[in-house]
Amino acid sequence: MRCPYCRHADSRVVDSREADDGQLIRRRRSCPECGKRFTTVEEAVLAVVKRSGVTEPFSRTKIANGVRKACQGRPVTEDALALLAQRVEDAVRSRGAAEIPSNEVGLAILGPLRELDVVAYLRFASVYRSFDSLGDFEREIETLRDEALAREAAREQGGGTATVEEPEAAAASRTV
Ligand SMILES: [Zn+2]
Repeated sequence: MRCPYCRHADSRVVDSREADDGQLIRRRRSCPECGKRFTTVEEAVLAVVKRSGVTEPFSRTKIANGVRKACQGRPVTEDALALLAQRVEDAVRSRGAAEIPSNEVGLAILGPLRELDVVAYLRFASVYRSFDSLGDFEREIETLRDEALAREAAREQGGGTATVEEPEAAAASRTV
């Protein structure tokens, strides 16, 4: 490793330790030329295997770029995109595989994107799953509607506890 201070072509490792639960190795290095010390970090590359068989390193930037297109005109911030890309990376890395097929990366995007913005999700899913008919859209929208209804129903049940409190309040006012 080249010294960042004097550009000397070699350096000596003086200490190595694991970080991030063994995901990273940090090495403390010393330059034999200028004597300065610096740290390097070594991390296993997570490779994405494309359909063509070509592999490329996993990139959060690429994830965010892909999703950004689907989010055009939607109220989705850059921070939200970065967070989504981080969630996708965490999900993909948690599988512990060194290589992951690109379609599984796409699958890992769908869940967080659906939570972020359903319209962007529909756009992304339509490309990713190659929707080719209105029926495909209809089915997906129906699933989203069912989920929204289920969420609403759950919320109403939650609201039910408020109506339970009313008689209590009435009872309390009666005893006063
Ligand atoms: Zn140096």
